[in-house]
Amino acid sequence: MQLYTTSLTSYNRLNTVPVKVGDLTIGGNAPLRIQTMTTFDTMDTVKTVEQSIRCIEAGAELIRITAPSKTEAENLLNIRNEIRKRGYKTPLVADIHFTPNAAEIAARIVEKVRVNPGNYADKKKFEFIEYTDQDYQEEIDRIRDRFLPLIKICQEYGTAMRIGTNHGSLSDRIMSRYGDSPMGMVESAMEFLRIARSENYHQIVLSMKSSNPLVMVQAYRLLIKTMQDEFNLVYPLHIGVTEAGDGEDGRIKSAIGIGTLLEDGIGDTIRVSLTEDPEFEIPVCRDIVSRYISKKSGSGILPVDKIPYSPFDYKRRKTQSVYNIGSGHVPVIIADYMHESPITRESLIRIGYDYDAITDKWKIGDAAADYIYSGDKIPDFDLPGTCKVICNYETWKSLEGRKTIAGEEKYFPVFFKGQAGNASHWSKTMNFLSLDAAQSGFDELMACYKKLTGLVICLYSTNENPVLDTRRFMIELMNRNLDIPVILAVECRETTIDRQLIHFAVETGALLTDGMGDGIWLINDPEKMENKRVSGRTYLAAKNNHQFLNNTAFSILQAARTRISKTEYISCPSCGRTLFDLQETTAKIRSVTSHLKGLKIAIMGCIVNGPGEMADADFGYVGSGPGKITLYKGKEVMKRNVNSETAVDELVSLLKEHNEWIEPEFHHVVNVDL
Ligand code: SF4
Repeated sequence: MQLYTTSLTSYNRLNTVPVKVGDLTIGGNAPLRIQTMTTFDTMDTVKTVEQSIRCIEAGAELIRITAPSKTEAENLLNIRNEIRKRGYKTPLVADIHFTPNAAEIAARIVEKVRVNPGNYADKKKFEFIEYTDQDYQEEIDRIRDRFLPLIKICQEYGTAMRIGTNHGSLSDRIMSRYGDSPMGMVESAMEFLRIARSENYHQIVLSMKSSNPLVMVQAYRLLIKTMQDEFNLVYPLHIGVTEAGDGEDGRIKSAIGIGTLLEDGIGDTIRVSLTEDPEFEIPVCRDIVSRYISKKSGSGILPVDKIPYSPFDYKRRKTQSVYNIGSGHVPVIIADYMHESPITRESLIRIGYDYDAITDKWKIGDAAADYIYSGDKIPDFDLPGTCKVICNYETWKSLEGRKTIAGEEKYFPVFFKGQAGNASHWSKTMNFLSLDAAQSGFDELMACYKKLTGLVICLYSTNENPVLDTRRFMIELMNRNLDIPVILAVECRETTIDRQLIHFAVETGALLTDGMGDGIWLINDPEKMENKRVSGRTYLAAKNNHQFLNNTAFSILQAARTRISKTEYISCPSCGRTLFDLQETTAKIRSVTSHLKGLKIAIMGCIVNGPGEMADADFGYVGSGPGKITLYKGKEVMKRNVNSETAVDELVSLLKEHNEWIEPEFHHVVNVDL
């Protein structure tokens, strides 16, 4: 095994211990399993049963139901009996936080229990305590005493278990010793796993969820390495990004986290946590899983001997600064205007530039693309100051004295296969070189990189495993100390918006999470796409394609935490504990705060888990009782039990009190339908 996976250059599923959950096997050679969680009150048997069945019919292979107390745990029997009576054998999972006695009841009824090691035997008080080794051991002994009865019941009833760590709800003990780090998440699960193994109980699945895809990816990798080093085997992994939110952002965040791991063969079952009805999570899961059903191990990618970066720690690849690309610059976005003819001022509104004819001025949104690729076309109007043009080499050459406007270079050439070596002209500032990692791209680079000043590579791969091939190319650059900036150029031939979102998010996100990539260039064919509604907006594929690609590109960079252009929402998927309509409330909060670039707002359904799980949010909106909301700044309560009817206004007041509010104006173009 190479650090955390079977191979970094060929696709193989990581070999894990097979675990039986009812009649279903997770891990081993079993296919990737899809699961979700119900959102109704567990005491509402009819609604929970009917929602479970909708999810099963959509393709869910496991259904999780919350059991906050003994009463709900007992009602799992009625739910299970009704689902079985209606002819469905799908295994059920009880979701447990804080209440071992509910777990002990549920483990006798359902096929699997999920425990959160951060709160199974601990009440979180957000206290920092200095533990001596002896104090720490005494804590582990206390957990052992609390955890053993559940293990015994699981052994007796043949019940499986998920040890499900959440980045946002680590125990005070773990936080005090490891901080809220991937290592802390791993150790949190390992404490429970070691106890289970010492009792010869192995029906275990593990998860390491975070709302931050980077943290989540690092934690899973570290967990695999830790299990491998300590036990010489790996238990199956349930993978997912928690509190991913809704709409495109939720799908993109999930696809980056889950897809990055699946590309390396990691993961045995997935859940996409969206703030939407759970049955809508299933098609997204299926779209993600479908990428791997018949994936071949790949060919032609040379093995890697040395990894010049840490896969357990984010660090952006060091590159030289070329104009506004690479080094400390945020990753740039190239909008593909290859098929746009003619390129007009109006067409730029879809990529964040709004022209005001009266004042003859451009307004530039927070989500405005940095470059357009125009092919052989040259716009016949003055471009906005921050927008530059990349055009084909021959066209660029023909511009002669027109490459510069008001003393500033506006047009830059891109060299395609075979052109750079024979080129007679090139820009003194910046030259783009398009390379296929699969087709002797490296040889072509070596043949011309000394000649071209200000080189930026636009990298893609026609290999059947483009992510692994592109990563291999980046590793080679790093091992040879070539600090040339790289734009990740990804083409997608999927025909639906959802599949395109997933494709783009995985193929760029899997590299961005390892610090690779100084920009992204997303390419599709709008004529081949189906029209579709996403998050209440209709994307007329051909008409709004630039807007779709631009929003997708900015959302990917935001989810990969490399370029922040909008408000970040951390909203829980809701469950039987939820105290208000999460979807409606999230939409309401979004409608008034979506212009607050960079602010992280958590919207959590319950006060029991919400504050612990809202991770690094700046402000929190948390259900604290029927019709009541408690507002937080960080982890601190600011306004307790506010009436839900006025809570959004109170949140805005709170933002104003803390100087986090600005009046909305033109910030980013997301809703234009031209
Ligand atoms: S935070 Fe949301 S998903 Fe988590 S337990 Fe509370 S209501 Fe359920």
